[in-house]
Amino acid sequence: MKNKNLQNKKQGTKAVWGGQSELFYKGATIVPIVNSVTFEYNDIDEWIDVADGKKEGYIYSRNKNPTVAVFEEQVRVLENAEAATSFSTGMAAISNTLSTFLEQGERVVSIKDTYGGTSIIFLEFLPKCGVEVTLCDTSDHEKIEEEVKKGCKVLYLESPTNPTLKILDLARLIKVAHEAGAMVVVDNTFATPINQQPLALGADLVLHSATKYLGGHSDAMGGVVCGKKDLIQQIFHYREINGASLHANSASVLSRGISTLELRVLRQNENAMKLAEYLENHQKIEKVFYPGLESHPGHKIAKSQMSGFGGVLSFSLKGGFDNVKTFINNLEFAHLAASLGSVSTLIGIPKVTSHVEATDEERRQLGIPENLIRCSVGIENIEDVLDDFERALAKV
Ligand code: PLP
Repeated sequence: MKNKNLQNKKQGTKAVWGGQSELFYKGATIVPIVNSVTFEYNDIDEWIDVADGKKEGYIYSRNKNPTVAVFEEQVRVLENAEAATSFSTGMAAISNTLSTFLEQGERVVSIKDTYGGTSIIFLEFLPKCGVEVTLCDTSDHEKIEEEVKKGCKVLYLESPTNPTLKILDLARLIKVAHEAGAMVVVDNTFATPINQQPLALGADLVLHSATKYLGGHSDAMGGVVCGKKDLIQQIFHYREINGASLHANSASVLSRGISTLELRVLRQNENAMKLAEYLENHQKIEKVFYPGLESHPGHKIAKSQMSGFGGVLSFSLKGGFDNVKTFINNLEFAHLAASLGSVSTLIGIPKVTSHVEATDEERRQLGIPENLIRCSVGIENIEDVLDDFERALAKV
């Protein structure tokens, strides 16, 4: 296959053609799944050159695999990064990245609203290794800046956040972190590279749970981190030894998902906006959290750093938890399930999903009411989603 120059191409083109080059053996037009664990060499000198990194090649699939390399390259071009490396899950991407750069006695600053698993790394695992962790109120940019200025090795950010879609001013915080000599890592899972490109805003590393929008069909797990070559090389080294590698079968499924990333995300942006507007005007709804709405406190910043507002929104129902149950039990076209970013609409209650381990007080501090519902809007025809919501809300 002819090599493709994707440098000035649009995201939809990059999503389809990224990574597709010499790996397409014998004229195949679809990414081949290379399940081989090990790769043979006829010439020992060539093997040594590959092992020494003097020549491109594959030795063992925990380190590198051709199918996995296609997935990494696809995400790399979408994030406009120098390099990318992948993982078995999004959590592996997060934990391996943090562990690569943080040692005993060092400090990381982050926000209170990171994804639940990430919070546990901050609150439970990193302190055990002697890493000092400071988690700031997500809405308080001044406080985050103040803590960063005190000195830290890593500033770890997520925007929009889960489940109340808070927005951080990435360029502002990245600038302050760099002035203080800190490295900035951004979890871009909710936004996707279609809606937001943190590296272009100055971040050092951007990572994803590929399980969500990148794969897009809830049928494969994976993680990926992109950034400068020297940083990715260090993370790759940690991961190849730590062993949280992505499998070729999952990489193939994720890679196919990425081909339609732009189509899906543009549709989900549109669907979520329409659903948010509908809910905001419904008398049974207390509050809607969606950065696309002008009523959202982060709307202006979101508008300046995102080209679309994403497919996730949350809302609280008037009345008690019984109303939440009635509404959800009456929805027909939504999976009552954890996760997000799939082609079908998914509905979850943070109280029993992402924040099940938080106490009532912790949830209250994060601004997550008991009656909050999170919705990851799918690619269905929005008229049908709205009909379904209307019918279920009528039962409340
Ligand atoms: N980051 C965010 C924002 C997430 O929502 C999730 C999972 O929901 C993760 C990371 C973890 O990803 P995974 O479940 O693939 O380990």
